[in-house]
Amino acid sequence: MRTFRYDTSGQWLKGNVHLHSTASDGGKSFPELAALYAAAGFRFLFRTDHWVSSDVAADPESYPLLWLDGTELDGQDQTGAMFHVVCLGTTKGLKREDGLVNGLKAAREQGALLILAHPHWCGNSLEDARRWGFDGVEVYNHVCHWLNGKSNGLVHWDAALKDNPSAQAFAVDDTHLRPEHPGWNGGWIVVNAAECTRTAILAAIRTGNYYSSCGPEFRSLAWDGKELHLTTSPVRFVRIVGPAVRGERLGTFAGPLLTDVKIPVPRDWDYVYVEIEDHSGKRAWTNPLFVTGSRANG
Ligand SMILES: [Zn+2]
Ligand SMILES: [Zn+2]
Repeated sequence: MRTFRYDTSGQWLKGNVHLHSTASDGGKSFPELAALYAAAGFRFLFRTDHWVSSDVAADPESYPLLWLDGTELDGQDQTGAMFHVVCLGTTKGLKREDGLVNGLKAAREQGALLILAHPHWCGNSLEDARRWGFDGVEVYNHVCHWLNGKSNGLVHWDAALKDNPSAQAFAVDDTHLRPEHPGWNGGWIVVNAAECTRTAILAAIRTGNYYSSCGPEFRSLAWDGKELHLTTSPVRFVRIVGPAVRGERLGTFAGPLLTDVKIPVPRDWDYVYVEIEDHSGKRAWTNPLFVTGSRANG
């Protein structure tokens, strides 16, 4: 049993799920970050300071956008591999001295969503990407793009999809905004939700009802049982992507840009997602279009 993942009848809400503030090694406070991002059209941000369990509910300040709780854990597992893992959701009691593996276990027990952060930059192997059953993988990390160009997690996401065909993609800023780590608004997600509330945004992320982008926009996604109907900002290519060599595509190198397409989706691929690419080579990705079995309800 497979179910189409997307319901794009709500409103699109842009957000960033990986960010550092002065609560760890970032250069800006929560009010500064909220003002900056809200002015660029962002509606929500997650606090993911290193090993800091944020507590948005206890923050009396009012902000021009919605803050949500998270944290970023780092450390080595028993194989010696180094991981950074972004945990989305409210957690308590995570301590660096307890180590990465215990931290991951505790975060998962508390219902956090675990995202493998910047695997390319960490030097993670494809086995690393499969070892801890991550809920998602960063397919683009903006600060790593600045640091040494190792920003692309698509290959690691592809590995994670082999075990979990519902594994989600995330494009993120990993904002620091210090002189040695500049840059923001380079990678984000856009969720589709009925309202901009903590509950609705967390539910949309948990069910994967969002896309990841470095530029282009998905405006609607619909499935009629055979074909996918997509509307987008003007893009040069639309790609239906499956395991290994599998893929279908629309678009040309020099012809008109696309904004409204219908494309058949093969039924026999273990997973399938959509990638769109604009005239400047910037890309955006859906999550796997279908969820199967027990994961169908998120
Ligand atoms: Zn990191
Ligand atoms: Zn980070």
